[in-house]
Amino acid sequence: MSLTTTTPPAPVTLPRDRSDLVVVGAGIVGLAHAVEAVRRGLRVTVIERDWRLVGASVRNFGHCCVTAQHGHLLDLATRSRAGWLDAAARAGLWAPEAGALVVARSATELAVLEELRAERGADAVRLRTRGEVGDALGRSGDDRADLAGGALLPADLRVDPREAAPRLAAWLADQPGASVVWGTNVTGVETGTVHTSRGPVRGDQILLCVGHDLDRLYPVEAAAHGIERCRLAMARIEAPAALRTDAAVLTATSMLRYDAFTATPSAPALRREVLGHSPELLDIVANVMFTRLPDGSVLVGDSHAYDVTEIPFQDEAVSALLLREAARVLGMSGVRVTERWQGVYASSPRGPLLVRDVAPGVRALSVTSGVGMTLSFGLAAATFEGTLDATA
Ligand SMILES: Cc1cc2nc3c(=O)[nH]c(=O)nc-3n(C[C@H](O)[C@H](O)[C@H](O)COP(=O)(O)OP(=O)(O)OC[C@H]3O[C@@H](n4cnc5c(N)ncnc54)[C@H](O)[C@@H]3O)c2cc1C
Repeated sequence: MSLTTTTPPAPVTLPRDRSDLVVVGAGIVGLAHAVEAVRRGLRVTVIERDWRLVGASVRNFGHCCVTAQHGHLLDLATRSRAGWLDAAARAGLWAPEAGALVVARSATELAVLEELRAERGADAVRLRTRGEVGDALGRSGDDRADLAGGALLPADLRVDPREAAPRLAAWLADQPGASVVWGTNVTGVETGTVHTSRGPVRGDQILLCVGHDLDRLYPVEAAAHGIERCRLAMARIEAPAALRTDAAVLTATSMLRYDAFTATPSAPALRREVLGHSPELLDIVANVMFTRLPDGSVLVGDSHAYDVTEIPFQDEAVSALLLREAARVLGMSGVRVTERWQGVYASSPRGPLLVRDVAPGVRALSVTSGVGMTLSFGLAAATFEGTLDATA
């Protein structure tokens, strides 16, 4: 299953036998559950409406953002890290333990990082000097004046979002007792049966991992959780020749976004500081960050806009702003864009996860906080252990 070549629709055969688990949706959340089912020797069928993956799981940064999570999500993210590494070894994924590099460009930004280090410990949050950050970014010695220092968060992982989920799906399809059914839309679900555009598929347990599209199958339950669509402006730029790191690179606006940073005492001062010098970034709810793909090109983002149905039009001013900020961090006068796209993920003001038992043996699970890559394998482990609480 490739993202770049067109595969003509292949003949589709639905499994005739009952599966232990039917997963609806072949994004990373559904696939992580299917991989966990295979690990446990279960028979699993994954049903995906499209012919290749085009959802949030291939449009993101490929950043398993562990350390920046807080509370319950930190536990899930930490478990997920182990699951990712295991799955990467099985399926042959690129998954360097490269961490995340948080670039600080002011004393306030450094204070947030120092406070996080005080809470988590010096191994989890490794402070970096201006020189070390400059070296990682490939910035020459006389072009580092705006850098104050930074921190490496070594627990964070990197994957290639173009490759990870498609390759996991291909790996799953080769496992005994597992199948992935492409090009098949799920139209309804009841206990023991998934109704599809090609006929029924039977399973003892059914898991709906359809992200924001849960509102199409279960509108009442989705509305009860306040599910909406978050739209993000993304771009891929040509390889910056000097960049030296596979770590995800985060900045001040990232520190305003992730709970581990926002819980620090200096976070309110940081928000005031960013509001003072870059209000336009807060207007677009920016998280200026980037990640490098194995070929050296770099994924740059992102902005956040929320609505029940997403607006299809991308505002060029938003993209230009994000690219300008990324170029500044890289110490470049400009960047060459090779691709642009809009990412869409499930979001909710009511909580980071939707876990709902919609019928006996039928569970809906959507990550509603934009960290599904990070949490996916931790959620899968918790689901099978029965430790993931469903809201009634
Ligand atoms: C731009 C962007 C950047 C992001 N960056 C990060 C990051 O760095 N780190 C991180 O942790 N998270 C990140 N995220 C969030 C993360 O990508 C998502 O939380 C995660 O991919 C959600 O996975 P999913 O499987 O629920 O959804 P999806 O990947 O959207 O998969 C859902 C699947 O369900 C299928 N489906 C829907 N309805 C049906 C139906 N009726 N029948 C059959 N199939 C159906 C869809 O076709 C789709 O393939 C980012 C998201 C975006 C958009």
